[in-house]
Amino acid sequence: MKVPLLDLKAQYAPLREEIRAAMDEVCDAQQFILGTRVQAFEAHVAAYCGVPYAVGLSSGTDALLAALMALDIGPGDAVVTSPFTFFATLGSIVRLGAFPLMADIDPLTFNLSPAGVRVLLENPPHRLKKHLPKVLLPVHLFGQCADMDPLLDLARQHGLHVVEDAAQAIGAEYPARTGICKAGTLGDIGCFSFFPSKNLGGFGDGGMAVTRAATLDTALRTIRVHGSTEQYRHERLSGNFRLDALQAAVLDVKLKHLENWHAARRAHAELYDRAFRGSAVQTPRAAYADHTLTNHHIYNQYVIRVPERDRVHAALQKAGIGCAIYYPVPMHLQPCFRDLGYRSGDFPESEQAASEVLALPIYPELTEAMQQAVVDEVLKAVG
Ligand SMILES: *Cc1c(COP(=O)(O)O)cnc(C)c1O
Repeated sequence: MKVPLLDLKAQYAPLREEIRAAMDEVCDAQQFILGTRVQAFEAHVAAYCGVPYAVGLSSGTDALLAALMALDIGPGDAVVTSPFTFFATLGSIVRLGAFPLMADIDPLTFNLSPAGVRVLLENPPHRLKKHLPKVLLPVHLFGQCADMDPLLDLARQHGLHVVEDAAQAIGAEYPARTGICKAGTLGDIGCFSFFPSKNLGGFGDGGMAVTRAATLDTALRTIRVHGSTEQYRHERLSGNFRLDALQAAVLDVKLKHLENWHAARRAHAELYDRAFRGSAVQTPRAAYADHTLTNHHIYNQYVIRVPERDRVHAALQKAGIGCAIYYPVPMHLQPCFRDLGYRSGDFPESEQAASEVLALPIYPELTEAMQQAVVDEVLKAVG
């Protein structure tokens, strides 16, 4: 049996009429840029996350860029983040002229290690001492929150703002000391992506930033329209980072199904967890599963570790099982960042993860028979 890594057609089929009607409304209104459709979607995401403000943006990448711009990050500043992430996290830091100070990951969750961040902030390697950290930017990788309480403590102690890369984690919950919080609402600004393969995916690129601070909401709204507060008057240098009304219309229909999709992904994860128990397959650790949370993990990806990963990857592809490597090259080893001065061996946990990880199909519409086919082929491949 062939099993794709993701099947967006299966998600679209039952929603087809509703989505097309919503798109038709935008076509009839001929109001494509911002406007009431975007405002309504922003209000719905803000309510879903439990924050007062949400700002629609052109992509997750632009959400990260706009968030750092709203905090006035630029040359001379440093941003503390993880090397084991999608490129956009680092790209947005370096594009602004800031320096990415990286700490290694916790190997069990793939997320930024609070202990690693503590060492970096309190006892940085000599060559990094000149960089002044201003922002802590944890990534909630694969749909599970980084361990935010100790990270927020460190940010407070060192006077850092916190931007969350929640591109893969919309709706994921974290058992904070102050109560259960959704990904993106723990720091100053949270960034989401609506790239089609995310749990809430649009018909193209889209993103959003959420915040509890009115001043940051205003800054983000200014930044997305060329830094302008009134027409043809520009307060700051910026760009065009707006969310389309057509995307907002599609996403608003899908948002109503998001909790069900999260639940289906989690059920699939439980099946995999059981099926791989006792094998050479290392299943992902759901760190907050024992807390009274609904979305302790939203499984944007179900990522296993296997020995001889490249061989297993090739065998699965040959058997028609969709799988992918997120991510094969950690950020400190990317060619475009070679001038930053990082070297192979700097972040051993990230490097090891990069050599062992393999993402399996976890999309909501996956059937039990398809999952069984995935399990059989994986067990056969690992031997
Ligand atoms: C998808 C993603 C982004 C970027 O989002 P886009 O909408 O594709 O620009 C940023 N960070 C992480 C961790 C992501 O997975």
